Amino acid sequence: MSRNKLIPIIAGVLCVVVLGSVFGVSALNKKSGKDNAEPSSVSQTGSSYQTITADNSQTGDGTEYLMTTESVADDNSESVSSKSGASSAQNSQNAVTTVTAAPSSSKASSAGKSTTKSTASTAEKSDYLYAYAGFNPVTTDMSVPVEKLLLNRKYKLPDGYVPKLTEAVKGSGVKMDYRVAPHYQEMYNAAKKDGITLTPVSGYRSYERQKNNFENQIKEYMNQGMNKVDATVKASQIRLLPGTSEHNAGLAMDICSLSETFENTKEFKWLQAHAHEYGFIMRYPKDKVNVTKIIYEPWHYRYVGTDLAKQLKSSGQVLEEYLGKDA
Ligand SMILES: [Zn+2]
Repeated sequence: MSRNKLIPIIAGVLCVVVLGSVFGVSALNKKSGKDNAEPSSVSQTGSSYQTITADNSQTGDGTEYLMTTESVADDNSESVSSKSGASSAQNSQNAVTTVTAAPSSSKASSAGKSTTKSTASTAEKSDYLYAYAGFNPVTTDMSVPVEKLLLNRKYKLPDGYVPKLTEAVKGSGVKMDYRVAPHYQEMYNAAKKDGITLTPVSGYRSYERQKNNFENQIKEYMNQGMNKVDATVKASQIRLLPGTSEHNAGLAMDICSLSETFENTKEFKWLQAHAHEYGFIMRYPKDKVNVTKIIYEPWHYRYVGTDLAKQLKSSGQVLEEYLGKDA
C-alpha cells in the first residue's frame, strides 16, 4: 500500500530534479555570455555564418559601403589584381553592399545541418570543378601553425576542411577560427577604448558559399555567350576559387567597409598603428599587388600572431615573401 503511494512521489521528485537541472543549466548558460567564446561551445559546422551578406548585394538598399570599381568582388573571395579595368564595369551592379547583423540561432542550426552534409560532397568535386580551366591549386601545408598557414591562388585548404568557429565580436554573429576570434575581440575592445569601432563585416565564409558565388559568376558569363572554360577563367579574375580564400579558413576579417576609401578613415589609421599589436596584418597592401595577385584591400586583415605581425610590419614583407612562396 505505502509502496504504491511512494512510487508516484519518487517519480515526481525525480521529475522536478531533472527539469530543475535542465532549466537551471540553460539559465546559467544564458547568463554567462562568456561560454560562447570557449572552444567547447564552438560550432563545428561553419555554417552558422549568415549575418553579413557582402555578396548578394545586387539588391542592396543603397545604404552602406559603396564599393569602388576595383573592389567589387570581395564578397566571397578577394578580388584578383589582374582584372582591374575590364571586369569592373560589368560588376558595377554589385556596387552596393548591405551589411546586416542578424544572428538567428534557429536558422543557424538548421542551415548548419544541411551545410555540413553538402560540404563533404561538394568539396570532393573541387578539383574536377576547375581543373578543366587550368586551375590546380595544391593543398596547403596544414602542419604549420595557423599563424603561418598560406592560402592564395596556388594554395588551397584540404577538401572538406571546416574550421572550428566562434564569434569574433560577441553578439555580432560574425565568426572566425576559434584560435583567432579572441584576438579580434581583444583588438576590438582596445579600439573601442580609443573611440574606434572595428565593425566585423565579413569573417568566415563557407566553402559552399564561396563555390556558389564562383559558380554564379561562371553562369553569368556563360549567359553572356562565353563557353564554360572562358567563363571560368574570367570568373577567376575577380573571385578566388573556393578553398583558396583566407575567409574559408576563418583567419581573416573584412573590417568596417569594402571600399578603398576605407583608407581615409580613423578606423583604418587605428589599424595601421595598432593591428600588429594584436597579431593582425593588412594582407593585401597597395605596393604588393604583384606579389599577392590580389588588389589593394585596406579592409582585409589576416591573423598571423603578434611575433610575425610585428616582423612583417617592420620588414614590409607580405606573407608570400616571408614564406618564400608564390601566389
Ligand atoms: Zn577579405
